Amino acid sequence: MGRLDGKVALITGAARGQGATEAELFAKEGAKVIITDLQEEGINELANKIKGNGGTVLALKQDVSSEEDWQKTVDEGIKAFGKIDILVNNAGILSFKTVTEISKAEFEKILSINTTGTFLGMKYVIPNMQENGGGSIVNISSLAGIYGVGGAAYNASKGAVRTLTKNAALTYGKESIRVNSVHPGTIDTPMLKDVLQTEESREHAASTGALPYIGQPIDVAYCVLFLASDEARFITGGEYLIDGGALTM
Ligand code: NDP
Repeated sequence: MGRLDGKVALITGAARGQGATEAELFAKEGAKVIITDLQEEGINELANKIKGNGGTVLALKQDVSSEEDWQKTVDEGIKAFGKIDILVNNAGILSFKTVTEISKAEFEKILSINTTGTFLGMKYVIPNMQENGGGSIVNISSLAGIYGVGGAAYNASKGAVRTLTKNAALTYGKESIRVNSVHPGTIDTPMLKDVLQTEESREHAASTGALPYIGQPIDVAYCVLFLASDEARFITGGEYLIDGGALTM
């Protein structure tokens, strides 16, 4: 039996990287998955792969920073599958620029995707979870949501996701809606292709943790799967480091 049998899960930023891996894993574990991204080609390719493996999937183009897109996505998802039990707010963008380097427009763009996108996802999905008697939300923050390595806007946006998660967990807990944040360290995805380009840079990244290797998308996906599933029924408001022990150094 699948760990997500009978569940419907919406995963944003699913065209590649961690979101794509989570979508495949969730479908394998029995969930019907709604995959969204700006990149239509990427989600359509992934949808075909999931269908080819026997999964049930709906691919929708979505900009998570657009309120109109969220309304449309949630409406279409519920129309297709009847409900949404799980939301993974995964879409995100990265910038390493410092406070003095970054423009106001760039700063606000990063916040609008990483933070406002997460807020809007919860705003539009929670009413359906309330009607259904519960649900699980997993917000993808970062190690940069806890300490100051990253970039000014990225740190600010991911720190806000961490406390927004705790606010929602407190507010909706009595309705059996669980909300947790996940904080990956260095994960080998297209987001870090420039940073992890050379053997030397990969070795350096691996040396920043207690473990001798960098993380893969599946390492994050297994934690997200657990939090999304009923196995985590007594877990809410938590923050989960998946960083190879980097924060213990
Ligand atoms: P990727 O860049 O590989 O994937 C992110 C996906 O989100 C891309 O397909 C991207 O599309 C999409 N996306 C970007 N902006 C939007 C938007 N406005 N609306 C919808 N989709 C959008 O990154 P990862 O898989 O690594 O990242 C997943 C999450 O994990 C992010 O929130 C990231 O911040 C976080 N994270 C990543 C870490 C890492 O080391 N990789 C570490 C810590 C946290 P496009 O190609 O158009 O940008």
